[in-house]
Amino acid sequence: MSTKIPFNKPFIIGKELEYITQAVELGHLSGDGQFTKKCHAWMEQKFGAEKVLLTHSCTAALEMAAILADIRPGDEVILPSYTFVSTANAFVLRGAVPVWCDIRQDTLNIDETKIEALITKKTKVIVPVHYAGVGCEMDTIMEIAGRHNLLVIEDAAQAVNATYKSRYLGTIGHFGCYSFHETKNFISGEGGALVINDARFVERAEIIREKGTNRAKFFRGQVDKYTWVDCGSSFLPSELTAAFLYAQLEEAENISQRRLTIWNAYRQGLKPLEDAGRLRLPVIPSHCGHNAHMFYIILPTAERRDALMAALKEQDILSVFHYIPLHTAPMGSRVQPAVPELPVTEEIAPRLLRLPMFFELTRAEQETICAAICRWESADV
Ligand SMILES: *Cc1c(COP(=O)(O)O)cnc(C)c1O
Repeated sequence: MSTKIPFNKPFIIGKELEYITQAVELGHLSGDGQFTKKCHAWMEQKFGAEKVLLTHSCTAALEMAAILADIRPGDEVILPSYTFVSTANAFVLRGAVPVWCDIRQDTLNIDETKIEALITKKTKVIVPVHYAGVGCEMDTIMEIAGRHNLLVIEDAAQAVNATYKSRYLGTIGHFGCYSFHETKNFISGEGGALVINDARFVERAEIIREKGTNRAKFFRGQVDKYTWVDCGSSFLPSELTAAFLYAQLEEAENISQRRLTIWNAYRQGLKPLEDAGRLRLPVIPSHCGHNAHMFYIILPTAERRDALMAALKEQDILSVFHYIPLHTAPMGSRVQPAVPELPVTEEIAPRLLRLPMFFELTRAEQETICAAICRWESADV
């Protein structure tokens, strides 16, 4: 009898519960207590970021970035269609129009060679999404943004602790947005962070995160009462969330090593199938230090992808497809009626399959998965 192999499984690795207990004992459960400060300091130091602010999700961090970028109705934002809804929603909520850019064949990241042709007088922001924790071509993107006076907001939800030319993803654009959702590498249930790499935006970011008040300045003794000074919302997580997250950050290297081991074992196990031309494995450019967020395979056709997914499900192995390109979604065509030409996006999205990938995935489970795929492939010559 085989036991079910889930696609994802949240995990505890170190002092998560101990720190939650400590937070309770400290008597401070709302946001911005000791554990939030520890998380900020840890990330600022490790990633070399100007300023990091915890949020309750990456979605919230993207929304903060859109407010900080002063997005107004009618502004245009360039982003891939092959991404999660939050990448677009954050800007659509402010009245912006998404302008879809195609992706690269190799990394499935925004195709930097196609960005410049999409820029108009209304363009305000470029949003590179580091798919699977593999860096977009940030040098080119920053150079284009600089020439056209645009802001760059990295959707680094999947890219925490991954690098591009030895710099941490999320610290290269004007803003970076991280996710600590339970499906990501480092988790706190729901959770996220806004990375602010341009000091001009730090003070306003603190205000927007605290309901439009200058509460942060008040607590630093810089003003003698706090008041409503700007628009804002409640973007900060509770200390319970920060306590859980801090325990995970302390174990970041162990978590990363384990995930890379799993990723490499998949690569090794499935390489013979790639060599035989049966499927394609992820491509990691040599200047990208990826974080093993995801292991996907690309089948020759959508039909074979669906058939393999069904065959694995028969054996209690949960594999899942990924984004339905946003421009093809009901909301996508409403916010951007122009039909874009995205041949790579449309061609790859229906053929991609993600394999189980989580910290506690065992070597035996992985062998079962690879063997099931190899058997399915050899049954059909
Ligand atoms: C997970 C994810 C998000 C959203 O993260 P939350 O923390 O769940 O809000 C945004 N963008 C991408 C690319 C993601 O993978």
